[in-house]
Amino acid sequence: MKKHNFSAGPCILPPEVLLKASQAVVDLDGSGLSLVEISHRSKAFVDIMEKARALALELLGLEGKGYKALFLQGGASTQFLMVALNLLEKRAGYLNSGTWADKAIKEAKIYDDIYEVGSSKNANYNYIPKGYDIPSDYDYFHCTSNNTIFGTQMKSFPKCDIPLVCDMSSDIFSRKLDFTQFDLIYAGAQKNMGPAGTTLVVIKEDILGKVSRKIPSMMDYKVHISKGSMFNTPPVFAVYTSMLTLEWLKNLGGIETIEKENEKKARLMYSEIDLNPLFKGFATKEDRSSMNATFTLENENLKETFETMLKEGGINGLNGHRSVGGYRASMYNALPLDSVKALVEIMSELESKA
Ligand code: PLP
Repeated sequence: MKKHNFSAGPCILPPEVLLKASQAVVDLDGSGLSLVEISHRSKAFVDIMEKARALALELLGLEGKGYKALFLQGGASTQFLMVALNLLEKRAGYLNSGTWADKAIKEAKIYDDIYEVGSSKNANYNYIPKGYDIPSDYDYFHCTSNNTIFGTQMKSFPKCDIPLVCDMSSDIFSRKLDFTQFDLIYAGAQKNMGPAGTTLVVIKEDILGKVSRKIPSMMDYKVHISKGSMFNTPPVFAVYTSMLTLEWLKNLGGIETIEKENEKKARLMYSEIDLNPLFKGFATKEDRSSMNATFTLENENLKETFETMLKEGGINGLNGHRSVGGYRASMYNALPLDSVKALVEIMSELESKA
């Protein structure tokens, strides 16, 4: 039976990408060699890395605008500290909109002074804080575009005179934004790009080189840029698969096309949550994420029936994060609209049974 994968990650990829990536593990493009055996310095892999970096910039509309794309290791969690090491001299502003933002703040505090410009922690992060000021003498402002655990998403970003840094781990390449407003974007691959193991970092080069501390080489964006994202052995499988997904997205028509699909999925999902009296959305309506829809089943007595129906319907990965409870339907780029239709049908069937 076909499974519908609503998992929050890792990772949901188009079937054709999975097929091509798995073939490459045995034989890369008929070369007779495995992707994971060839030298990362070989032309074959250097071309893959260069293509992945170029596609990332192209899809974001950042080509020729002073940005560099890197595929690094250590997950988005390593970026929490790399951002601070490379950019934090005196003080930075952070928006505390969820668990991952909170973790980014904790790491940055190791290096210097951090000011939380706004926080929704007191409401278990069910909304995006608004109406805050960002002092213009800070080193940078950090925010999280999509809060994976709580199902909230920033719909707009503050205009600020200082570098804008954004963790886009769970909604990169999912919606059209003016990406030139950001000076540094990072995103773990494992939601909209590829398997865990690589993190895309897109940096406007001119924000670097302004801190006085010594930065260890592996933590230094400048080192990675100067080595073409090959300072150390790159995670070849994760980079190759991400490249295939970016190619898939480009052939589909780019972010503009996928955004329309994502909007259809989110509209369908949220209209069921709102119209079906058995369910209640967790996030404030205006801040709802198009990637992760969080909701609860209001009648606990129906839990077992609902979960049996989900199992029989091939719905996978719908459990909410432990800090929110309930359910979370993650609708990343590669999730087909039909999967959302299948889930919504089960939810409305439950209503007719209740
Ligand atoms: N930031 C966000 C928004 C996330 O959703 C996650 C993981 O789900 C992370 C950061 C942490 O990513 P990683 O596990 O790659 O360190």
